[in-house]
Amino acid sequence: MADRAYNFAAGPAVMPEPALRRAQAELLNWHGCGMSVMEMSHRGSQFAEILAAASERFKDLLKIPDTHELLFLQGGATGQFAAVPLNLMGSGTASYAVTGNFSGIAAREAGKYGRVHIAYEGRDNNYSHIPAQSELDIAPGSAYFHYCANNTIYGTAWDYIPETGVPLVADMSSEIMSRPVDVSKYALIYAGAQKNISPAGLTVVIIDRRFAGHESPMTPQIMSYEKMIAKGSMLNTPPCWCIYMLGLVLDWVAEQGGVEEMDRRRRERSALVYDVLDNSRLYKAHAEPGSRSMMNVTFRTGSEELDAEFVKGAAARGLLNVKGHRLTGGMRVSLYNAMPLSGARAIAEYMKDFEVEHHV
Ligand SMILES: *Cc1c(COP(=O)(O)O)cnc(C)c1O
Repeated sequence: MADRAYNFAAGPAVMPEPALRRAQAELLNWHGCGMSVMEMSHRGSQFAEILAAASERFKDLLKIPDTHELLFLQGGATGQFAAVPLNLMGSGTASYAVTGNFSGIAAREAGKYGRVHIAYEGRDNNYSHIPAQSELDIAPGSAYFHYCANNTIYGTAWDYIPETGVPLVADMSSEIMSRPVDVSKYALIYAGAQKNISPAGLTVVIIDRRFAGHESPMTPQIMSYEKMIAKGSMLNTPPCWCIYMLGLVLDWVAEQGGVEEMDRRRRERSALVYDVLDNSRLYKAHAEPGSRSMMNVTFRTGSEELDAEFVKGAAARGLLNVKGHRLTGGMRVSLYNAMPLSGARAIAEYMKDFEVEHHV
């Protein structure tokens, strides 16, 4: 491939080209210090500067209030499936909404450490639906309510913040920094950063300080929010390179106009693709209209052969990684922050051309 393709992968995923170019320019010699960020001590003053800048930028962009701490961790969102119950569940019950694969795994993982109450289960609609407030059955006195804000595999998203009367925990892996969030409403937000804001290897946690310090005694120290807060995310070696890349990506987000602009762009990009779906006789969207994700658009033709042909034809046009997850089949077009509008246009045009060629 001569030039960069449009990469619609769900994660690891497309990164902003200016961030990649800056990393390239600074690769061998960061700011004249004579070494790469990859080679620095994580305890040195240069890396301290890099971490502080990324952290400040992050807090600034998402308007994280002083009541909340920002942590840079490892272990992915999957690590948080365990860390959240270990730290927050106590001897009580936690309520989980299961709206897809990852929220189901999160609920099962939490079940190892305490009582889990399923507040919603979407299996019967094949996870095409996001429950309304009235469909949630929260166990009274729950230690917390956990939900996945954007379901990466099924292409659905919550367009509201549930008012449950219990502390709120959200997995925002595939949508963090794509829109403004009222962080004050949450006890905890976590995200595997490789979907929308960094390379794989970094996990971001935003926690209301009041919820730290109550962990189960068996909690591994690298999963203890309290210890990580006390050590400024540096209880052990942090994912230095990813934190550096996060900083470059967030500089780009800020230059572009912040999360408000990211939100405007994701609406514009996803509308191009949903518009094709809504006017098609070939494609069927997976998500219900009121439950649609602006980050991951899922659809199928109804024929596995045709789906495979679609994916192959897309790749031939430089539109990569549009094959759906094995749980859903069909196609998935991920439209993260770094996907230019021209990429959304290109996939929408291809969808229309493919329909003209193949519709019977
Ligand atoms: C990708 C993803 C996960 C799993 O993340 P890892 O970092 O691989 O553990 C969990 N939740 C959501 C919503 C995801 O998109």
